[in-house]
Amino acid sequence: MLDNLTQRLAKVVKTMRGEARLTETNTADMLREVRLALLEADVALPAVREFIANVKQKALGEEVIASLTPGQALVGVVQRELASLMGADLGPEASQLSFATQPPAIILMAGLQGAGKTTTVGKLAKYLREQKKKKVLTVSADVYRPAAIGQLQTVTAQVGADFFPTEITDKPVDIALAALDYAKRHYHDVLIIDTAGRLGIDEAMMKEISAIHAAVKPIETLFVVDAMLGQDAINTAKAFNDALPLTGIVLTKLDGDARGGAALSVRHITGKPIKFAGTAEKLDGLEAFDPTRMANRILG
Ligand code: GDP
Repeated sequence: MLDNLTQRLAKVVKTMRGEARLTETNTADMLREVRLALLEADVALPAVREFIANVKQKALGEEVIASLTPGQALVGVVQRELASLMGADLGPEASQLSFATQPPAIILMAGLQGAGKTTTVGKLAKYLREQKKKKVLTVSADVYRPAAIGQLQTVTAQVGADFFPTEITDKPVDIALAALDYAKRHYHDVLIIDTAGRLGIDEAMMKEISAIHAAVKPIETLFVVDAMLGQDAINTAKAFNDALPLTGIVLTKLDGDARGGAALSVRHITGKPIKFAGTAEKLDGLEAFDPTRMANRILG
């Protein structure tokens, strides 16, 4: 089992009582513990390095108020910095979807196969219908896996949204445009486009989703990433962030035992807000992302 960070630091902290300032010397051991804790939480190394450098910069020279030990003061800096990186300073609006466009508002889903895209489409459709009273249409631009289209049809029916059938002989861009045309004619407020995911990053797939993006100009382009992906999340996020102007992230499978280091890696690479967290396989397992809770989870 991993030690809780505060307990871990407490062991180092004992030697530091009575110092009035955080210094290079009195924080070195603790920063090493923080670094280890982040690596154990599966945060990718470049993200860990940047985080430690930021904490160091904020902490050094900071006065330690009388009621605290230097260790407690440093834990405070670490917690604040991590929550801020997770998006705590962005305010609750950061997790909201934008509808500031002529309807239908288009949401494009991007991510690897198995990340949870199709499930998340169902969850979003349910949330938008029930909480936001929107008329929602879904479509799959995955012409490679008929099973994926069937899965989208099933989840869409489960949440009572409308489904636009896919002709697998059509090009993904044409399918997206046909669904958009249908949505306009039937006064849908939102069109959610599910896309093909491959098992790894591949150039043809990136070109295809970029072409869909260029054709329909979505107001939201959400990158769906599996929290269990661990350190690999950083490479996947980089590839999608380079190919597409992402507007937000959905972190799925947070009901699993992942510590959530992927959240920090993905924020580090994209700088985009994490808007939602997937917390169950069921279609009501979607929550607005909570930066502070995530920071605490990563710290263990
Ligand atoms: P896609 O290939 O990206 O469309 O991924 P799917 O939506 O098919 O999801 C892949 C698997 O992950 C399915 O078995 C889903 O039930 C599961 N899944 C998706 N989101 C979550 C989640 O938040 N929690 C859990 N436990 N499972 C999820």
